[in-house]
Amino acid sequence: MPATAFDEIYSGAVSTAGKSPVKLFGQALNGAIIATGYAEILLTRALRAYGPEEPVNFPGTAYFLPVIASLSGEKVTRLGELPPILNRMRHQLKEELNFSNALLCGEATAYAAEIIEALRYLRGAAQHVPPWTGFLSDPLLRKFGIQLVDWTIPGQAIIMGRARSGADAVRIVRELQAKGMMIFLVNEVIEQLLEQNMKLGVDYIAFPLGNFTQVIHAVNYALRAGMAFGGIFPGRREEHRDYQRRRVRAFVLQLGRIDDVKVATHFAAIFLGFPVICDTKLEEEIPDWYVSHPDYENIVSYALELRGIKLKTVEIPLPVNYGPAFEGETIRKGEMYAEFGGGRTPAFELVQMVREDEITDGKVTLLGPDIDQLAEGGNLPLGIVVKIFGRKMQEDFESVLERRIHYFLNYGEGLWHVAQRDLCWLRISKEARAKGFNLRHLGEILVARFKDEFPAIVDRVEVTLLTDKEKVEQMLAAARERYAFRDARLKGLTDEAVEVLYSCTLCQSFAPNHVCIVSPERVGLCGAVSWLDAKASHEIDPSGPNRPVKKSTPKDAVRGMWQEVNDYIAEASNRNIEEVNLYTLMDKPMTSCGCFEAILAIVPEANGLMVATREYTGSTPSGMSFSTLAGSVGGGLQTPGFMGIGRSYLLSRKFLKADGGLARIVWMPKELKELLGEDLRRRAEEEGLGTGFADKIADETVGTTIDEILPYLEENEHPALSLEPLF
Ligand code: SF4
Ligand code: ZN
Repeated sequence: MPATAFDEIYSGAVSTAGKSPVKLFGQALNGAIIATGYAEILLTRALRAYGPEEPVNFPGTAYFLPVIASLSGEKVTRLGELPPILNRMRHQLKEELNFSNALLCGEATAYAAEIIEALRYLRGAAQHVPPWTGFLSDPLLRKFGIQLVDWTIPGQAIIMGRARSGADAVRIVRELQAKGMMIFLVNEVIEQLLEQNMKLGVDYIAFPLGNFTQVIHAVNYALRAGMAFGGIFPGRREEHRDYQRRRVRAFVLQLGRIDDVKVATHFAAIFLGFPVICDTKLEEEIPDWYVSHPDYENIVSYALELRGIKLKTVEIPLPVNYGPAFEGETIRKGEMYAEFGGGRTPAFELVQMVREDEITDGKVTLLGPDIDQLAEGGNLPLGIVVKIFGRKMQEDFESVLERRIHYFLNYGEGLWHVAQRDLCWLRISKEARAKGFNLRHLGEILVARFKDEFPAIVDRVEVTLLTDKEKVEQMLAAARERYAFRDARLKGLTDEAVEVLYSCTLCQSFAPNHVCIVSPERVGLCGAVSWLDAKASHEIDPSGPNRPVKKSTPKDAVRGMWQEVNDYIAEASNRNIEEVNLYTLMDKPMTSCGCFEAILAIVPEANGLMVATREYTGSTPSGMSFSTLAGSVGGGLQTPGFMGIGRSYLLSRKFLKADGGLARIVWMPKELKELLGEDLRRRAEEEGLGTGFADKIADETVGTTIDEILPYLEENEHPALSLEPLF
């Protein structure tokens, strides 16, 4: 075990403390002995009951037992493989009390916790009553991919123990939520929060993991991020630690009493580069790593500072909370005070670029009744018109800004928003109403957020809210004209028609070598960055993640290769990728980070390709589920035959042009087929594949194995079967 790595990373940590915190190290050792000993007892029992061949795994992951897989590279699948691993860990516990050895105690404790948890999951025994989550699956890891990489989720707080009171627990968690943090909860603090009616769970990005050893699910989540987004291979222990320390901005808040096992757990966190902040007075501290901060008043900001997490926050005067923690919140009919659009009433939202003299900055106007004039559960028509003036604003950016309305409103607690344009649908909860929320607040949110998020292109914002039916209908007609105008402009926007493509390196905060090249006809693989988005984002921040890549004559027009793109990619990928083709899967395809909406994979037997989506959790004809595929595709690597994509790329005229395009698709989940709907049919017709092509694509109702889908494809004369061979 090279001690040098520790010394380098944690240099000075202990020496500056004056005298060495030997008591703490002693506790870590004692705790690690207890934890590994306990793991051994349970393991022996399990082996006796089930035998060494018994399969071990966590549900919904392609990363085996992720702590062990990432740190040692061992891909454990059977019970019998665990004893030598646990023994190795026990042997690394050393009597000599120093920082390096305490970290090794931490590592051993992490292994022990993972083994104990894996045993709990044997034969699907572990049951979790919501909101308790236990192990968090790979889809949940990737669900938050983009928010983790763009720092919408600026970091991760692991809260262990019990706060001084329920109210204190609520206060700490609320503050973390308002700052957009991802929160993992362990032990009594969960009950404290539930007793105070706090909403917890996936939708609130606050995961009540469970008790004791279940804290390891926060750690294995972070380590999987390294493998999935960072492309760090299993077994590269020091690289994983380095990635965790630098890119995964996590820390531990220890509330309440501390015993030896907890100290050992804390050193597991420190081993990975996560500092520990305790709310009790400590006899010994380690500066930067193990510190006491009893003051709840500012424990959250203290922790964020300690971890180097800087936030830019907008304070919007609202009667409800505001932040990404509320994006996933749903408002059911029974909880709803008022509703707008969604087919029940006419509704629309429109961002409009205006001249300097057509706008009063910051003004919010409501034309028509507010919700206080509405009975509970009622509805109203709604028009949201956002006027924008900016010296660097362009008409092209209207749609980019307009789509942000969805996020801006959804971040409000008690607000629920879906879709856009004239299909939008908004609900306001009874709770929000009771706190004093009214329609004007929608305007306040939009004014504040547009200015905050787009300072370079937005100088002035004015919002008009219409609830008067006649006025809404009048303005709706004008809005539709505007949508049609934009759509026509987008149609003419082809890869050939523009001089520059844009890069996106946003995901490098997690996947250091990944680069997306975004063209008018190929959206970024997260589905969230179109060419227009990238263009707008470049205007906003010229030194930001989106750079223009000027292109000249292509080196290969069919495959979509340009010298300038290659030059850019080589530099931006730290020389990991030298060349890239935009329109093929088979040869030097684009790399994938971890936040793809869908994955394309070859199905050699059918001479075609299949699509797996994040939403679809079943098996696929490639023999792998989405999460297993994701495990091998992600991390900023070029993997011919496999690629992450944004779903709308399937509808592009440039969709794998070099490989035969849409005609290659032989399987996709039914849900995706329905989502693409008419557009898929239209595109198929355009490609000369006939009106019935969508029905020739197999889905899970036809089968999820090659043997099940091949006869179907043959029977329906799927065009892929007669295309030239993929290889
Ligand atoms: Fe990440 Fe690519 Fe999306 Fe940019 S476009 S955020 S790099 S996935
Ligand atoms: Zn990404």
